[in-house]
Amino acid sequence: MSEEKSLHFIEEIVEADLAAGKYKSIITRFPPEPNGYLHIGHSKSICLNFGLAAKYGGSTNLRFDDTNPVTEDTEYVESIKDDIRWLGFNWSNELYASDYFDTLYQYAVKLIEKGLAYVDDSQSEEIAALKGTPTEPGKDSPFRSRSIEENLRLFSEMKEGKYKDGEKVLRAKIDMSSTNMLMRDPIIYRIKHAHHHRTGDKWCIYPMYDFAHGQSDSIEQITHSICTLEFIPHRELYDWFIEKLEIFPSHQYEFARLNMTYTVMSKRKLLQLVNENHVNGWDDPRMPTLSGFRRKGYTPGSIRTFCDKIGVAKRENFIDLSLLEFCLREELNKTALRVMAVLDPVKLVIDNYDETVTEELTSENGPDESMGTRTLSFGKELWIEREDFMEVPAKKWFRLAPGAMVRLKSAYIVECDSFVKDADGQVTEIHCRYIPGTRSGEENSNIQVKGTIHWVHAANAATAEVRLYDRLFKVENPAAEEGDFKEFLNPESLVVIKDAIIESSLLKAGMDDRYQFIRKGYFCLDKDSTPGKLVFNRTVTLKDAWSKEVKK
Ligand code: ATP
Ligand code: MG
Repeated sequence: MSEEKSLHFIEEIVEADLAAGKYKSIITRFPPEPNGYLHIGHSKSICLNFGLAAKYGGSTNLRFDDTNPVTEDTEYVESIKDDIRWLGFNWSNELYASDYFDTLYQYAVKLIEKGLAYVDDSQSEEIAALKGTPTEPGKDSPFRSRSIEENLRLFSEMKEGKYKDGEKVLRAKIDMSSTNMLMRDPIIYRIKHAHHHRTGDKWCIYPMYDFAHGQSDSIEQITHSICTLEFIPHRELYDWFIEKLEIFPSHQYEFARLNMTYTVMSKRKLLQLVNENHVNGWDDPRMPTLSGFRRKGYTPGSIRTFCDKIGVAKRENFIDLSLLEFCLREELNKTALRVMAVLDPVKLVIDNYDETVTEELTSENGPDESMGTRTLSFGKELWIEREDFMEVPAKKWFRLAPGAMVRLKSAYIVECDSFVKDADGQVTEIHCRYIPGTRSGEENSNIQVKGTIHWVHAANAATAEVRLYDRLFKVENPAAEEGDFKEFLNPESLVVIKDAIIESSLLKAGMDDRYQFIRKGYFCLDKDSTPGKLVFNRTVTLKDAWSKEVKK
């Protein structure tokens, strides 16, 4: 991907608007509904909205689209704010659609006064029955011709709480034969006797999405209101309300939402995973939520880079989860501290090493010298990975086997002499000899060995729980499969290793530290850690198919 990127279509629109002097500066908004946690899809919208304002010297509002009292909650409001800040963005104003309830009510009254809205007593099934189909025009409701005075009185009574839920609605009077079904007298207010997380019990009528969204944009003088493609049919209605109400002309532009493989992205589905305990909460590291990615060890920079790489387009597509992982590895490869941890330990005994001696060896913390060095304790007994030893070596096996030599990372070359098995045939101890003078820079260091393995000095080791996370779903697009999407959950999405062996420097790990467990992947501390028991999450493995492809 080249450094010099061409403009995407929304940038082109903004540049043309600014060049034509249509606006002095632009105002965008990010409008989440506080009914769940933000997911990776939202980050595309966040990067786009905040990114445009930053690039063109405008501003971005954070507006909570909180017009549905039943599903919304302040817990979600707080998490959304945390996640946006974590991603690295600051909003100019924190606003709530519910703050506009009085204005929106006045707007509805204005439409009634203009003869452009009416109170309908029909039940929802009756309204649906008269709506027609895309190929057949709808029919007028029997209440469509109510007088303005009657409509004003009834709407006011709806507001006063005179009617029960569903007894009446307010509808815009547009065109029952429009080819756009949304223009067939859409409902703009409904009765809902429900407590709202901000307005409490003040209201028992609530505006519908279409009546709240565009008008909120207009109130805030949003110049470019950016949403996802499914809102294309809503644009006609968006413009109709603005025109009839004679308010600031915000404009809506649509881009393709982010879809990603091996996950689901709708908040409704994510909520099911949480409520039915398929995962351990919204911030479970397997969740595609920003809080899940954060807990898993993702960096905000890698997510921003990812959003930049996928670009802004007008056509829907699926992005491979590996691209996000690739962006993360690119960053962690440069920044993660290199340490040694043994996930499936077996003992290695160096028979010719003095058991009373402990050496302090120096090891690099990172891929280059800028990250400094640390001391590693070394002695007669070490832990190594069970998978690094083969009793009967396969072809091209460069790790430990009877008679074979390997280098112990940052330490000596050893040659394997023998091994011990228990009654079950399980290898319990591997014996070897070290070759003196084979540490880096020493006289025998040029002895050629093909394999290097990691290890931890048994006398100075600590233990930790290590959680290995994998894709949450077994199939690329669980939402598109027949049947319940939850049938496609990957049963191996979490593997817990209770007693992994870690080098003692990890006892000082902090929540913001990022590690590469050499040869094992990238890891970070989990919030479940206590001073007596550290827990590490695998953020991402070291390699995958995608990285091979792009390096070719
Ligand atoms: P969901 O369908 O997951 O419930 P939503 O669209 O209802 O999502 P909102 O809280 O309304 O969620 O979204 C806030 C903003 O984020 C909207 O402008 C929406 O278009 C955008 N957004 C939501 N999902 C995606 C996505 N997958 N890709 C890009 N933008 C998205
Ligand atoms: Mg929405």
